[in-house]
Amino acid sequence: MDCIFCNIVQKNTPAAVVYEDDLAIAFKDINPKAPTHLLIVPKEHLTSLAHAVPEQKELLGHLLLVVQMLAQEKNLPGFKTIINTGKEGGQVVDHLHLHLLAGHKFNEV
Ligand code: 5GP
Ligand code: ZN
Repeated sequence: MDCIFCNIVQKNTPAAVVYEDDLAIAFKDINPKAPTHLLIVPKEHLTSLAHAVPEQKELLGHLLLVVQMLAQEKNLPGFKTIINTGKEGGQVVDHLHLHLLAGHKFNEV
């Protein structure tokens, strides 16, 4: 499948992976918008949050707990978590991902 994040999950495309388990992988964003900018990605292909189904409730919760774990591991005093959904929502890569951003003062929503 021609999905950049599936290729990263399958190790066909290199990435700076910081965490991995059965369900998720986390790696550094290639074009960081903050001193810390990680992407947390489900290993199974899920196009976007708009495509999630109730059976994926545990997976969705797991992704948030991975964000929390990474923030704790890095001793981040605060962080921003973003999920862009759909072209109009700013989503460029059509495989669900959570942005973990930290190190800037984020004053806007
Ligand atoms: P979106 O706008 O879809 O929410 O965010 C996609 C993010 O993926 C962007 O911040 C972009 O820099 C990042 N990205 C796109 N292609 C790659 C890649 O091949 N490797 C990594 N590590 N990040 C990527
Ligand atoms: Zn994918």
